[in-house]
Amino acid sequence: MVTASVTLIHGDGIGKEVVDAAVEMVKASGAQVQWEHAVAGEQAFKAGVASGVPEETMESIRNTKVVLKGPLGTPIGFGEKSANVTLRKLFETYANIRPVQEMPGVPTPFSGRGIDLVVVRENVEDLYAGIEHMQTPDVAQCLKLISRLGCARIARTGLELAVAQGRTNVAVATKSNIMKFTEGMMQREFLAAAEDYPTLDTWHVIVDNCAHQLVKAPEQFEVIVTTNMNGDILSDLTSALVGGLGFAPSANLGNEVAIFEAVHGSAPKYAGKDVANPSAVALSAVMMLRHLGQFEEATRMEQAILRTLEDGIHTQDVKVGEPVGTRAYTDAVIARMGQTSSLPSRNHSRINLPQIAREDVRSNAGAREYVGADVFVETADSPAQLGERMTRIAKGTQFKLKMVSNRGTVVWPATGGSTDCVDHFRCRFMLVPGAVWDGDTLLDLLKAISSSYRWMHVEKLDQVDGEPGFTRAQGENAIDPS
Ligand code: NAP
Repeated sequence: MVTASVTLIHGDGIGKEVVDAAVEMVKASGAQVQWEHAVAGEQAFKAGVASGVPEETMESIRNTKVVLKGPLGTPIGFGEKSANVTLRKLFETYANIRPVQEMPGVPTPFSGRGIDLVVVRENVEDLYAGIEHMQTPDVAQCLKLISRLGCARIARTGLELAVAQGRTNVAVATKSNIMKFTEGMMQREFLAAAEDYPTLDTWHVIVDNCAHQLVKAPEQFEVIVTTNMNGDILSDLTSALVGGLGFAPSANLGNEVAIFEAVHGSAPKYAGKDVANPSAVALSAVMMLRHLGQFEEATRMEQAILRTLEDGIHTQDVKVGEPVGTRAYTDAVIARMGQTSSLPSRNHSRINLPQIAREDVRSNAGAREYVGADVFVETADSPAQLGERMTRIAKGTQFKLKMVSNRGTVVWPATGGSTDCVDHFRCRFMLVPGAVWDGDTLLDLLKAISSSYRWMHVEKLDQVDGEPGFTRAQGENAIDPS
């Protein structure tokens, strides 16, 4: 067996204890791992590294391409950037894999249901791109950016994970009924990719119903592929189904680098007290061993953990019987290496991560026609005043005002509804028939608006292959520029 080099980051709070415990278990499993110690998080921030990740740590990760890490904290007064997010983004670890499995000896309200599922969460896009703006002093905006490439690769990662783990049921959870372009893209790309996996049972579930079904009948799920925000919430829910954060491992996979870590944070109140549960980091190390191709050692370590729990030995987060400390639990796991539990481990093969280039998924969109613009303005005007004034303003341009909306609901022309308007309006202008589009067409409109209103945001409206590349406002009739 080839010895694998792995960058080891202890992290903060309980990180030292739980990572040391996992390292001891890895050694006892017979796995061949050589650790490269590196630093990130509080220690780095306090040493003046603004990102929380020193260059030597980056260099180690570039070399080893595999990381086992403890939780990283962001100390108050040391900037607001999370070293975790820095690591995930810099190494484009686009797939966050969060398996949960019912543990013997860990009673929960769901015990006996045989929960064994994996949330496959897109890890770098969506609202987590962190692109936010105060549009007016009272209205904030966050951009939800979703790419076809991002969807295609997470969809195929989820499908490949199912193949590698002998699972057959793969759901995609989205809010495509409301966000047709962004969440809808995830649904469409997943279902398109699924055609290449005819032996898998693939389906779409609306994310809110997914949360409902996960509590009602969690055993119906094996793999759930989802967007970043949905996955963040669903995967915390699934952790709770099997006993909480002390048992929730994860992997952040990219084409270059893989980072393995517990889902939990640094739990500072437990730091140095010999009470933290090391299982989540240890099970993350089990995932790491499988990633490294050390399958037998991974199973040995996983079975030793399960057997320890089954024998009634556990830390204080399991609310039954007498708990033991982190040290004693670790010793108990090590003493059980080679033993098996009543819960067999799955057969795993390495996940075949998709190698997708942007060109592979680029749509073959044909004609694109510019048909209008949404101009967002700040005003205390009533919808009627704004509609009348904007209609007049547009008269000297190549546009005609079609509608005004407030937070997505049409307020002009009047609909008879009772929207509470805030100072942030969208004015939708469509090009008049016969209008000539050149570089100044939109600028002329903006100049005309500027004389009366403060505009803060403009969105061009395109038709793509004859279909609107923009959604209608709530209450807006069909897109008709006339
Ligand atoms: P947390 O550290 O996960 O702790 C929340 C609670 O979860 C703890 O109070 C404890 O619950 C329980 N818990 C977590 N890990 C446990 C373990 N191994 N054994 C037993 N119980 C455990 O979340 P937080 O308090 O929100 O965050 C603390 C710091 O960690 C923050 O600086 C945050 O930014 C950071 N963080 C880092 C990561 C990461 O590095 N990946 C992830 C999340 C948070 P009880 O109180 O009920 O016993």
